[in-house]
Parts: sequence; C-alpha cells; structure tokens
Amino acid sequence: MKVLLINLPVPDFYHGFQKGNHQIFAGYMRAIMEKRKSGDVVIGGLDRHAIDNYNDNALVECIMEQSPDVVGFSSYLWNVERNSEISRQLRKNGIITVTGGPEINRDNVSLLDGGAFDIFVQGEGESVLPDVLEDIAAKKHKKYYAGEACDFNKFISGYSGATDDTAFDRMAYIEIERGCPFKCSFCAYDKTRKSSTVIDMDAFKNAVDGCFSRDIDELYLLAPTLNSNRKRFESYLEYIAGKRSETGKNVRLFGELRPELIAGGDIGLMKEAGFDCIEFGVQSMNLEYKKNLAKYDLSGFAKNLLAHGITPIIDFIVGFPGETKDDVIRTIDYMSDNAILDYCNFYHLQVLHNTGIRKVFIEKGYSFQDCPPYLMLENDVMDIGDIKDIYMYLEDRKDFSYREDYLVLDENRFHVIRNNDDFNSLSETPFYHSASFVLVDNFDFDVIVRFYDGFFGGNPEIFHQVYLYSRQGFEMNDLEALSGMMTTHGNYYDRYREGINYFNDEIFSKTIHVLSGPDSDEKMIGQLMDNYDFGFAVLPGERNSFADRIQKLRRYFLDDEINTFVFRECDDMEFEFIKRFPVYFGG
Ligand code: SF4
Repeated sequence: MKVLLINLPVPDFYHGFQKGNHQIFAGYMRAIMEKRKSGDVVIGGLDRHAIDNYNDNALVECIMEQSPDVVGFSSYLWNVERNSEISRQLRKNGIITVTGGPEINRDNVSLLDGGAFDIFVQGEGESVLPDVLEDIAAKKHKKYYAGEACDFNKFISGYSGATDDTAFDRMAYIEIERGCPFKCSFCAYDKTRKSSTVIDMDAFKNAVDGCFSRDIDELYLLAPTLNSNRKRFESYLEYIAGKRSETGKNVRLFGELRPELIAGGDIGLMKEAGFDCIEFGVQSMNLEYKKNLAKYDLSGFAKNLLAHGITPIIDFIVGFPGETKDDVIRTIDYMSDNAILDYCNFYHLQVLHNTGIRKVFIEKGYSFQDCPPYLMLENDVMDIGDIKDIYMYLEDRKDFSYREDYLVLDENRFHVIRNNDDFNSLSETPFYHSASFVLVDNFDFDVIVRFYDGFFGGNPEIFHQVYLYSRQGFEMNDLEALSGMMTTHGNYYDRYREGINYFNDEIFSKTIHVLSGPDSDEKMIGQLMDNYDFGFAVLPGERNSFADRIQKLRRYFLDDEINTFVFRECDDMEFEFIKRFPVYFGG
C-alpha cells in the first residue's frame, strides 16, 4: 500500500521562501513502519519544493502522479482548509484520505461532518496510524480513531538518522519533550496526557551528533517548555555548547521557554549553546499572568538577554475577556517607555477548539470567527473595532507595523499579461505566490475583472499581486469593480489578519497596484495615489521620456513611497520585469 503523508506550510506572506516546514510526522511514521517491518506499506511524501511552493491544484496533480492508495494530512489552523480542498479532489479519484493534528477534535463538528476526509485521527497519530493502515488494507476502516500518548524515544533515532529535510533549509529539529504540565486557557496543546515524555539522554546526544554532522545553521529543540525542568535544560545546553566548541560550527539554537523559570546564570550558558534569540509568551500584563510577572522584572530580564547578545521576542495576546483596550495600550506604552517594544509581538486572541477560553466564550455568548483562525471578535470589554484601534495605535503612534510588503521577483511566478494567451498561461501557474503585470490598454476592463474572478475563485488559497499598467489612464469605476471583486476572494491569511486590516475594501492575499507611465495626467496620478498603491512603470523605450520628466516626478518620489518598476526588452522583442526600485534614481 502506498501512503503519502503531507504537512502544508504556514502561509508565509512576506518571506521569500519557506523554512522549517519539516515533514516530521512522515519521518516518524517511516521509522515506525520500518521497525515493524511492514514492507507492504510504503510511506512516501512529496518533494519539499512542491509542498512549500505549489498551490492546491498543482499539489493534487503531483499527488495523482504518484498514484497513492492513501494520503494523510496534518491539519493545523493554517492548512486545514487547503487540506480539505485537496482531500475532496483526491477522494473523487478513489484515494482514501486521513487527517490528524490539532484541528481534529470532537467539538470541531463542521470538519468532522464536512465530508472532506474519509478518516479522522484525534490525539497522537504515531500510536494509531499503523492500525488505521491495517484496517484500510483489510477494508474495515472506521471514520474516527483516537490516538494515545506515545513514547517518541522508540522512533526518534530512526527519524533523525533518515530525514533529508535538513538539506532543504539547513535546519534540524529534535523533539525533546511531549506533554505540558501547564494549563494555559487559550492553548490547544493536548491536555489529556497524564505525564510528559522526555527524550532519553543517549538518544538526545545521538540526535545532536547527527545534526552537527550535517550542514545546518539552526537547530530547533521541540518542547512545549524547554526549561520546564532546569537540570535537564542545563544538560541539553551543556551538551550542545560542547558540540559547538568541538566542531567549531556556529549553529543557532531555538526553543520555547518560560522566562520566569530561567535563572540568571542560565543566560550565559544559553548564549554558549547558540541561542541568539528567545521567544516567550507573557500574554497579558493585566490578567492572571501578572502574578507570575510580578516575581521578576520583565524589562530587566529582556535587557539582560540583550546584554548577552540574545534578542528577546516577547509575545502578548490581545483580546482576553476582562482586558480592556486601555489596558493593552498601557502595556504597549510600558514596553515602549522601557525601550523593548521593538521586541514585542501582539497576537490577536484565537479561540481554539478544546480550550478553556472557548468554553468561556461560548458560555458568556462572546463571539469569534467560526472557522480558522477563530479570532476573537467580541468579548465583555472589547470588540473587533477596539482590536483594530490597538493595531492602528501601534502603527501610527509607535511606528510598529504588521503590514508587510510582498514582492514576487522570481520570473517564473511573474507573468506579463499582454493577451488572452498570457491569461491562460497565468491560470496554469503551479505556484502559491505569484504576480501579474497587466497591460490594461490591450483589454476591455471587463475581461480583466472576469479573468481574475475566475482565477481567484479556482485558487482561493493563493497569494497574488496584480500590477495594472496603463498609458491611457484608468476609469475609477473599473478599478473599484476589480478591487471589490477581489475582496470576495479572501482566504485564511485574510481572516488571520482581520485585526490589522483597517479598511473594508482590501484584502492582503490578493492586492492591486496601479502603475502609470511617466507622461500620465497629473490629476489622474493624484487620484490614483489617494486610492491605490501607486507606482510608475518604465517599459523598454520609455527610459528617455522618464529621464526627461524626472525633475517633475521627483516630488512624488520625495513625498510618497512610490515604487518604480523597470522592464527590459528580451530577445523575442517582448519585455520582462527586471527590478523594482523604491524610488527612481534616473539613468
Ligand atoms: S501555552 Fe505553552 S505552557 Fe501553556 S499550556 Fe500551551 S504549551 Fe503549555
């Protein structure tokens, strides 16, 4: 039986490439099946480049090419919709689909009853997937399976020795601990485990040795709280610090820590072991966590880390019941006054399945999105408008922005649209991120709107930038029709960013940029600049006219953030995008 196991990445809007989406579960399962000598089951996967970069339709094609019997998906908030869509298409082709992961919970009724998957596995999948596969082979599988707590020591060495994900992004992962003794009300981490499983020290040393024998830059130690036991924490760090000095390799180390459990002396050892940043969740300065926070001086701790060359990343959550907008603003001001705001993250509360906070929201009648990422929309003291005000406060008053520019430079993903054939070729793009530069004057605008409506409708998960270029000018009605249509094609990322999106007429996953030539009417340029992300485009043959007008245009570059897109002629007398300048420097 041929089984493909797939974990789709976090939608990463602003990084040019994905990192860290290691297919750990697939690796574990391969090690488990090898140990069981289940030769009739082959655990495969897709190429990492495809997993990280392809859109849903392209992934379905890649999967079908391998003719698997079973496809398994790890379902997280950020990928469960994509998994569901891909699974539906596979099932139509007779493939049995299985899903597990944090999204699989008894209370996630819409997923369980949604008809997207054949089989659901709740809990730790490694303990039960071999049985599920046996049942499938015997044609007696059920719809629902429950995994139990399992000891990853039984398969971690098999995984560490075999994974080739490290070659893809020069990162390595070692699972250190499974199970969390803390009971944070907002966290969906499995709370049914009676105790934690900890990596055997010998297995840990073997895995670290294996990582240092490869070409890696980063090592991630996976544990809900890496420093839950100080003695063990120190042993891990001492071994890694020794390995770094023995091999001379400057491998950076990451892990999730609780700051109040870090003793002063640990910070030097952490630096020696390769930590150059640590992320920790404070969540709220105003609610129950404040009691813990009072035990130490957060700003002093952050500054101590900085003095050791370790960057703190301090996470807060905005949207807890009982914490008002003014409370959060006070926290922001406190961080800013102590010069550590730059190291803070403010996450919009997610009301996850199977959590204490979800029960509170339901009992009290507070509201939240009914699909991932389940953002809080209203509680007893705040609503979504207040959340937007907080993000606006960060952006306007503290120069702290979550809005990211995203630029496609890869020529395979940047489509110049001159005619209908070019639209056809764009519609076949396999990529999850892409962009198009449309020569608007070659089309009726209705054709453009209809194409993108169909393109986004067939690929709602994608990120796409549309650059509209016209020498003749734009009708504002046309642009409004296009942008209005685009807001109907938001995806997970747009819901995830709802709190930072202050405008109703834009989404982040699909964006419009309006470009004109240097000779365009100034009144029109002003109008476009007021309403759209505006820039200039310099096509082959226009460089001289642009240079002639540079003095006149210079004020736009000085007053506004105007981008200039420069194209060059190719061999076949067509042109291709070569560069975006934040301003135009002439020449
Ligand atoms: S947030 Fe971290 S410490 Fe709290 S329950 Fe979840 S995993 Fe444990």
